Amino acid sequence: MSEPFLQVSDITYRYDHAESFSLAKQSFSLGQGKLLVILGPSGSGKSTLLQLVAGLLRPNEGTILMGGKPINHLPPEKRNLSMIFQKPYLLPFLTVGANVEIGLKIKGLPARERKMKAEQMLKDVGLEGFYDRPLASLSGGQEQRVAVARSLVIEPQLLLLDEPFSQLDPLLRRQMGSWLSEMKQLWNIPMIMVTHDREEALTLGDRFMILRDGATVQKGTLEQIYYEPAGRWAANFMGLDNKIEGMKRGSKVRTVLGELEVNPNCAHLPDGPVDVVLRSEWLQMDSSSSIPATIESSVFRGPFTDIKVNVSGETVVIKQLGLAAYERGLETGIRLDPFHVWCLSKEMT
Ligand code: ADP
Ligand code: MG
Repeated sequence: MSEPFLQVSDITYRYDHAESFSLAKQSFSLGQGKLLVILGPSGSGKSTLLQLVAGLLRPNEGTILMGGKPINHLPPEKRNLSMIFQKPYLLPFLTVGANVEIGLKIKGLPARERKMKAEQMLKDVGLEGFYDRPLASLSGGQEQRVAVARSLVIEPQLLLLDEPFSQLDPLLRRQMGSWLSEMKQLWNIPMIMVTHDREEALTLGDRFMILRDGATVQKGTLEQIYYEPAGRWAANFMGLDNKIEGMKRGSKVRTVLGELEVNPNCAHLPDGPVDVVLRSEWLQMDSSSSIPATIESSVFRGPFTDIKVNVSGETVVIKQLGLAAYERGLETGIRLDPFHVWCLSKEMT
C-alpha cells in the first residue's frame, strides 16, 4: 500500500487563554483523492483541528506529514493547500473573474494566463460565462462556488473546507453537497471537510472522524459510523436513537423482537445485558407479523412518518415512507429485517 498523502500523528493543541478546551491527541491520515469528514457538535474542536492542518495554528505536540515530508514548521502559504470557510470572503466590488484570479495574481502569472485558468475553473464549478459578471449579482450558492474556484485555481495539493455550506438554506445546502460529491470525482484532490450536518457528512465522506469536546469519539468508514456507533453518545449523534434491551449470549441477542444475530464486529462484548441499537429503516409495520405492537404515536415529518410502537413494554421507532396515520392504541404488528444488529455494553458512554 502506498503511504497516505497526509499523515497527522498525535497532535495536541491548547489555546493560551482558554482553560476549558484542549484538543487531545489526534491522529489520522488521508489518501490521495479521498475526502475526510470531521464531524461533531459546535465547540468540539473541528475548526481548531482544521486550522492546525492549514498552519493557521501550530500544534503543541505531534507531527504533520504531507507527501511524506514534515510541514509543522511551514507557514500556511507554503503548505500548498487552500481553505474554504463558512463565508466565501470574496471582494464584492470586483468581478467574478477578478476574485477567482487573486491567488494567481499573487503568484505573478501574466493576465492572459490568469484569465484562461480562471475561465476553465469557472466552467469546472458550473459557472461558465460568469467571468465578467459583477460579484453582487450572484446567489449565495454561486458565491460559494466562486470561492471554491478561487481556491482550486492555484492547484493546491489539499483542500480544506470548514462548514462551507452552513450559511446556505437547507435546500441549497443539499444541492451543493451533491455538487461537491460530483466534483470530488473530477478534481481527484484530497479534502478535509468539517461539518456538524450529518446528512452532508454522509453524502460526501470516504472516511469519518467524530469529535466531542476536543477528543475523537469514533473514526472509521461510512458503514462503521452509520451502523457501528462507538458508544451511546456517538449513536445519538448519528441519529441511532432506537435502542432496546437485550441479553447477549455469544453471537445471538435475545430481545422483545425475538432472538437476533449480533454484528460480528461487536461479538467480543461480554455476554449479559446490552443495549441493542436499531436503525428505524430495518423495521416495518406488518399486521401479519408474529411480533405484536401497539401504536403509541404517529407523526408525519415530510417524506416520512415517525411511528412509535410499544412492543412488550419497549418503545420502538419506525420510519415509514409517505404519510401514514395510525390511531393511538391500535394493535398491530412489526417486522424486523436486519442482517444483524449492533450492541452496546451497559458501561459504554
Ligand atoms: P468547532 O469548530 O467544532 O465549533 P472550535 O474548534 O472552533 O470548535 O472551538 C473549540 C473550542 O475552542 C471552543 O470552546 C472555542 O470557544 C474555543 N476557541 C476557539 N478559538 C479560540 C481562540 N482563538 N481562543 C480561545 N478559545 C478558542
Ligand atoms: Mg467551527
